[in-house]
Amino acid sequence: MLIDYLGGLLSNDMGMDLGTANCLIYVKDKGIVLREPSVVALDRDSGEVKAVGSKAKQMLGRTPANIVAVRPMKNGVIADFEVTQEMIRSVHTRKSLLRPRIVIGIPSDITGVERRAVEDAAKQAGAREVYLIEEPMASAMGADLPITEPHASMIVDIGGGTTEIAVISLGGMVVAKSIDIAGDEITDCIVQYFKKKYNLIIGETTAEDVKINIGSVYPLEEEKTMEVKGRDQTQGLPRTMSVTSEEIRQALLEPVRAIVELVKSTLEETPPELAADLVGRGLVVAGGGSLLRGITELIRKETDIPVHRAADPLSCVALGTGKYLEFLAEGKFKKFL
Ligand code: ADP
Ligand code: MG
Repeated sequence: MLIDYLGGLLSNDMGMDLGTANCLIYVKDKGIVLREPSVVALDRDSGEVKAVGSKAKQMLGRTPANIVAVRPMKNGVIADFEVTQEMIRSVHTRKSLLRPRIVIGIPSDITGVERRAVEDAAKQAGAREVYLIEEPMASAMGADLPITEPHASMIVDIGGGTTEIAVISLGGMVVAKSIDIAGDEITDCIVQYFKKKYNLIIGETTAEDVKINIGSVYPLEEEKTMEVKGRDQTQGLPRTMSVTSEEIRQALLEPVRAIVELVKSTLEETPPELAADLVGRGLVVAGGGSLLRGITELIRKETDIPVHRAADPLSCVALGTGKYLEFLAEGKFKKFL
């Protein structure tokens, strides 16, 4: 009882972005207090959690036989309830926040069962009240789009496991679409490319480095080269080779094309008045995948509307949950539900 009472007094409301690649926590009056990869290392036999976040990410592809590193939010759905709960709890106790109100960004195409799993996980991890907000809405709020206006705002959030797109007006999503092609699929294409073209097996972490360092989807002013290390498939020995940004671009075009097509089909389904707004205002890309070089140029060329990148693409959903907390505190939230 006393603990509950104190907890109520000390609670600091928080917002969470349980992304497929990164998990962010926003705390009211403090801002983003935590940013960790959505990875958990488990003991294969006992199921015990050995590490979460960046410590666990370092173990991806390098674990001894008895430990397995998993990404519980992969593909935008919560694959493992217990693991998710453990992640929330690790954050929650580490920052010693007591019984907070929690706003959580969830994928827009999540099932009812999954929604409840997220809610239960948050409650069991100590939340007093749980609010779920659709990720594209949170992302648009975090990107400072004027979502409550009677004009169209369009957000394209390219995360790790999913790309979510929404056209928003008057605080509601008018058209929403998602696809399980995003940053991770792009990384995977790089892995496949080296395997097929050079018989070189490279790890996911190396492929992500290649993507971040020299990846692009539109010709660069100055093309880049990079040394890549892997294991030769035929000889089984380590090998280093040099690649250019031009050839990597060819490997990336297929998954990126799928994302561009989804942007186009969303525009096609947007009611004419709102589509007309977008011709002038353009759309905003967010999420880590939007940091890929040339993505704004490519989408602009393909859709003929202006494309802007959010100021802090990796933080949009978390910042949006923070804004939502403010709306809740001001009693404005009903407008948005
Ligand atoms: P999620 O919301 O699903 O957790 P994020 O928005 O955190 O995803 O984005 C993660 C994705 O962004 C990963 O696929 C990662 O490789 C990619 N990413 C991060 N930084 C960059 C960058 N500079 N260039 C290209 N891709 C990036
Ligand atoms: Mg995200």
